[in-house]
Amino acid sequence: MGKVFVFVNQKGGVGKTTSAINIGAYLSLKNHKILLIDFDPQGNMSSGLGIYDRTPSVYDVLVKKVNIEKAIRKSPLKNLSVLPASIDLSGATVELVEAERRDFFLSDVIKGVRDLYDYILIDCPPSLGILTLNGLVASDAVHIPLQCEYFALEGLALLLETVKRVQSGSNPNLKIAGIFFTMYDPRTKLAQEVVQQVKSYFEDKVFSTIIPRNVKLSEAPSHGLPICLYDDKCAGALAYKKLAEEIEGRG
Ligand code: ATP
Ligand code: MG
Repeated sequence: MGKVFVFVNQKGGVGKTTSAINIGAYLSLKNHKILLIDFDPQGNMSSGLGIYDRTPSVYDVLVKKVNIEKAIRKSPLKNLSVLPASIDLSGATVELVEAERRDFFLSDVIKGVRDLYDYILIDCPPSLGILTLNGLVASDAVHIPLQCEYFALEGLALLLETVKRVQSGSNPNLKIAGIFFTMYDPRTKLAQEVVQQVKSYFEDKVFSTIIPRNVKLSEAPSHGLPICLYDDKCAGALAYKKLAEEIEGRG
């Protein structure tokens, strides 16, 4: 049965989508079957892999009960499939709030395809709202991308509080897979300090691979490609390859 990982940070623009795409891509190159679920109405994960026609989307599966297999698309990589999101998903929050088992929508959807994949990676929007809550309830473990700046630490406390609430409520099996740093710039003293501080507090929960700031990582999605197909030798590619191996190794 496939592992379900969710990428969460309520702060915007910290690298959730970039990480989910590229970790998924490198895991798929190691012969794992991967499903990426775009659970952000912005649809960055979908467009970042060149998927522009998003009907049917995850919204249609959740709310209109369209068969999930009809909504899953191929990506430029053989073992990497995508369930895309469209802007409709922002409207789904209303439907989810009104529903009785509102935390469980995404889990119910995933149940049907879990056996077909080795890893299912869910990309969440920058909020701790009902979509992210669904992501947390549907997952085995949460991955937290962290940008190396001061406010990141304040946000982290709130995020961990939310994870605790989910653990003591709808999903007692939820684990924190780990925290990893993104967009690291070794020239700034603050970045080094934030890394040290988080490592001393969270110890082995922090992945040893650090993702550097790398312009190729920001260019790749505009070509609809994961970094391994855009420039597999750049520093960003090497880092995501290593991080994917670390994640695979942790089981
Ligand atoms: P949102 O909260 O809006 O969903 P996000 O957390 O998913 O954002 P991304 O979209 O992955 O963050 O990244 C934000 C921006 O930074 C994007 O333009 C992306 O291409 C760029 N980016 C991500 N990681 C890196 C990196 N390591 N180096 C340089 N640019 C990066
Ligand atoms: Mg995103």
